[in-house]
Parts: sequence; structure tokens; C-alpha cells
Amino acid sequence: MGDHFDAIIIGGGACGLMCAVQAGYLGKKTLILEKNVKVGAKILISVGGRCNYTNMYSSETNFISANPHFCTSAFSQFTVEDTINFFEANGILGKEKTLGQLFPITNNAKDIVKVFEVLCKNLDQVIICHAEVKEVLKMEDGQFQISYAKNGNLKTLRSQNVVIASGGLPVQKMGASDFGLRVARQFGLKVTETAPALVPLTITGKEAEWYAQLSGNTIFSRVSLGNISFEENILFTHWGLGGPAILQISSYWRPGELISIDLLPNNNITELI
Ligand SMILES: Cc1cc2nc3c(=O)[nH]c(=O)nc-3n(C[C@H](O)[C@H](O)[C@H](O)COP(=O)(O)OP(=O)(O)OC[C@H]3O[C@@H](n4cnc5c(N)ncnc54)[C@H](O)[C@@H]3O)c2cc1C
Repeated sequence: MGDHFDAIIIGGGACGLMCAVQAGYLGKKTLILEKNVKVGAKILISVGGRCNYTNMYSSETNFISANPHFCTSAFSQFTVEDTINFFEANGILGKEKTLGQLFPITNNAKDIVKVFEVLCKNLDQVIICHAEVKEVLKMEDGQFQISYAKNGNLKTLRSQNVVIASGGLPVQKMGASDFGLRVARQFGLKVTETAPALVPLTITGKEAEWYAQLSGNTIFSRVSLGNISFEENILFTHWGLGGPAILQISSYWRPGELISIDLLPNNNITELI
């Protein structure tokens, strides 16, 4: 390819794309290697293709992390206002749905991906799709050697810096894998236990049929686990429970723990009767 890249970014999802753009603003040249046929696959499916691109009330306290200082630092360097301004400057006007959630007024996640594609092009950042990185090696001269498969051939590139933006484990058909975790282990980094987050809950056993019968119904509820609780809709499904309040609490739940659901959080049942 002949180009010099200040960094090779592995993964063209939300993080990899934003990384390339920010590097471009600093006058750096990066290369994104993305194994899917196009970038931003997960952005395109977010909230049924509408993309809730930020939340007006987001802060570091909304994130679960073994290292809370990381979130504090990240939020102080790029605030919610910065996110809103970034998209506005690139033609995306937001509209608020419930609880501060901002969506593009066009309701189309494609517009968000387009912002990144256009910016990468304008900032001279290179994107290669259908390129699956197989190996990252640190060479004796301190450079990284990246091997990736493209059209059945294995190619290698070198760069002083590598960014692992290969995403987390969910939704393998969108390209998700444990690649990032494997590279972290390979370079001796400590990896914390992983757990599903923002997922529906499956109900099995004798109660499963009861839930299935209520499938399709939503009700505003307070869902609690210990001293953590969320007040939003819950949704009965054929396999158990979903909806925003359930997705939120799922990030805190561990097998064996009890979740309690108040189906009338703001009403007194005796008075209602
Ligand atoms: C159904 C659903 C709805 C969501 N809705 C929202 C929402 O509305 N708002 C929101 O903020 N978040 C939402 N999220 C979460 C959001 O999608 C993720 O937090 C975000 O996409 C993570 O970005 P990422 O760049 O870290 O990872 P990803 O978007 O997963 O990107 C990683 C990329 O790396 C590529 N890759 C992996 N391994 C390799 C390799 N070896 N070589 C080359 N490429 C590789 C993958 O193909 C992928 O494109 C949703 C998630 C899901 C599953």
C-alpha cells in the first residue's frame, strides 16, 4: 500500500470511526481495518435502525466499571455537549425521546454512519473493509505488525501504534468476537470477568408459560435489585421479560440474585381498588 500510518485501528465500529476522525483532526493519518463489508454495522441496527446517539443526562455515574476513574476521565475530556455539538456541526440535529435520549430527527442511523464515512474521507483516513485482523505482534524495533486476511490472502502491515476497537462480545453475526480480549491477554493485560449487559431476561421452568401468555404487553414498573432501581417500561415476551427497565437491571444481575418488580410504582393499590 506504501502509505505511512500513524496508527492502525482494528475495527470500524463507533469507537474505531470516532478514533480515526479525532486522529484526523490532530493531523494524524490512520487506517481502519474492518472485517465486515461495511463500517458501523452495529450503529445501523441500534434501536431498530434509529440510533440513540447520546443521552442528555449521561454522566460517569451511569457506567458500570471496575475502574470508575476511567469514566470520569473520559467524560471530562469529551462531554455530552461535545457529542451533541460534534453531530450538529456535521448536520445531525437531535430530538429528545424519553429520559434525555437523543435520536437524529431523521430517525435514521444511516445518517450517523454517513457522518463518519464523510469525515474519514475528508480527513484522508483510510478504511479497508472485508479485512479481518488475525494477529498483532510487537516487533523488536518497537513497531506492531498486523496480519489481516483480505480476499483469501494474508497481508501484513506495520505501524508504531495500534488501536483495538474490535468491540465487545454481543451480536457475533455483526462481527463481534473476543478478539480484543485475546490481544489483551497476549500482551499480559489483566482482563476482568465479562458478563452480559443490557439484555432481556429469559424465564424458564413452570412460570415460562405464564409469561408467554402475557407476551406483547408493556407496563410502567419499578424494577429493583438491592438498592439499584429503574422506573421505565417492562415488556412481557414469549421467552420472559424485556423492555428498558429490564435491560437496565440486567447489567447488575448475577445468577441466583432476586429482582423485584413493582407493577404500580406510583400508585397505592388499596386506593386504586
Ligand atoms: C441491538 C443493539 C442496539 C443498540 N442500540 C444502541 C443505541 O441506540 N445507542 C448506543 O449508544 N448504543 C447502542 N448499542 C450499543 C452500541 O452498539 C455499542 O456500544 C457500540 O456499537 C460499540 O462500539 P464499538 O466500536 O466498541 O464496537 P462495535 O460497534 O462492535 O465495532 C467493532 C467492530 O470491530 C470489527 N472487528 C471485530 N474483530 C475484528 C477483527 N479481528 N478484524 C477486523 N475487524 C474486527 C467488527 O466487525 C465491528 O465492526 C446497541 C447495541 C445493540 C446490540
